[in-house]
Order: sequence, then structure tokens, then C-alpha cells
Amino acid sequence: RERVREILSSVTERSDNRLGVEAMGIFDAYGIPTPEGAVVDDPAEAERVAEGIGEEVVMKIVSPDILHKSDIGGVKVGVPVAEVADAYEDLVSRARNYQPDATILGVQVQEMIDLDEGVETIVGSHTDPQFGPLVMFGLGGVFVEIMEDTTFRLAPVGHDEAVEMTEDIDAAPLLRGARGREAVDLDAVVDAVRRVSQLVADFPSIVELDVNPLVATPDGVRAVDLRLTVD
Ligand code: ADP
Ligand code: MG
Repeated sequence: RERVREILSSVTERSDNRLGVEAMGIFDAYGIPTPEGAVVDDPAEAERVAEGIGEEVVMKIVSPDILHKSDIGGVKVGVPVAEVADAYEDLVSRARNYQPDATILGVQVQEMIDLDEGVETIVGSHTDPQFGPLVMFGLGGVFVEIMEDTTFRLAPVGHDEAVEMTEDIDAAPLLRGARGREAVDLDAVVDAVRRVSQLVADFPSIVELDVNPLVATPDGVRAVDLRLTVD
């Protein structure tokens, strides 16, 4: 709790009270699994972290002013270790081109999750003026706004309610293994939905939060992206 409070209080006024992947420590505090990785602020350090992760990594710009990172070319998937230092410079210059005065905290170097085996889901929340914090679950990824396949409950949700949510969405068969694909680890999905709902219930100052994607695979879930707004 103390750790989450610290992270939430680190928002600056300039960034409209928004936080991105720099706040992923919140997931650790609430037992939500994340990919291996770290936020670094120089190319050599990026290379060192990448070497510890594997042959290829994902790299993302970390800036409270850039919360839709792919929109500006701020996410690179499948970067070989040898190209990590160059990729670092490239990400920073893309961010600078996009917004010269953006606050750039660095670059996140992250383990690659195999999306072929997985389904990108979204777990989110916003505060309803009448009902209070709601938790949302749905099909995730960069096309989430287009798909609009989501379901909402009051937060926090218990186990049965979270199970219901995974059954509610149109993409439910995808989670249960369609067309010869293996089913994803539904217990892990349910657990993550519960934990996110508990987080937003515990911290009313979080007025909006998106874990997109929460990648679900047969082996579990990984929260690979985060953005949130605090009031
Ligand atoms: P943003 O939503 O700000 O554009 P994300 O971190 O969600 O940035 O990355 C965009 C997309 O890149 C994700 O929806 C996912 O498809 C892919 N991606 C991001 N991180 C990983 C990862 N660690 N492993 C595999 N794919 C990833
Ligand atoms: Mg995202």
C-alpha cells in the first residue's frame, strides 16, 4: 500500500495527473504478474538489461506526455540485443520530434511475450460519479476502441463475478481455446481482474486506469502496459 501511495504521489502537474509504465511497480504491490524488465535512462544500461532478458526484447518510450506509445512509433517489438542501443536513441528522437518539450523518463526494456500463443485482453477502471469505481474487462490490444468488446462491474469484484466477466464478452470463446488453439489460463485472468478491482477500490484517487494489454497465455497472464489518471 505504502509503495502504491508513493508511486501515485509522483505525478506532476504538467502531465495532467497521468502515469504510464513508469508506475508499473503498482502491479508488483498487488501481485499482478508483469514481464521481466526495467526502465533505464541510457543506451548502455538498456543493452545491459536486454542481455539479462534474452535474445530479443520489447522497448518502449517512457514519458508521462506520451501515453499512446505506438501512435508515435514509441514501441519496438523483437529488438535483437545488438540493436538495443540504437533503438534507444531512435525511440528518444521520435518522442522529441513528436513533442519537443515532452518529459522523457527513459525507455522501458521488457521481455517479449509470445502473442501467437496469447490473447490481448484489457482490464481497466473508471470512477462513475453515481456508482463509484467500476472495473472493466474485455478484448485488448491497440484496436480496443474499435472492437468495443468490454463488460463492467462495480469494484471490487469477487471470484464468481470476475469469472462472469470473462464469460460476458463476445471474445469469450477465444479465451477458452477456439480453432485448435489452447485455452488461456483463465484462473490467472480472473485473479488479475480481481486484483485490479481491489486496487482501484483501495485507491479512490485512481479515477481512471487501463492495463492494455493484459496478455493471457496458456501459462498465465502478464500486464505489459499501464496508464492511469489520479485525481
Ligand atoms: P501503447 O498501448 O502505449 O501503444 P503497449 O505497451 O500497449 O503501448 O504496446 C503496444 C502493443 O505492442 C501491445 O498491444 C502489444 O501488441 C505489443 N507489445 C507491447 N509489449 C509487448 C511485450 N512485452 N511482448 C509482446 N508484445 C508486446
Ligand atoms: Mg497499450
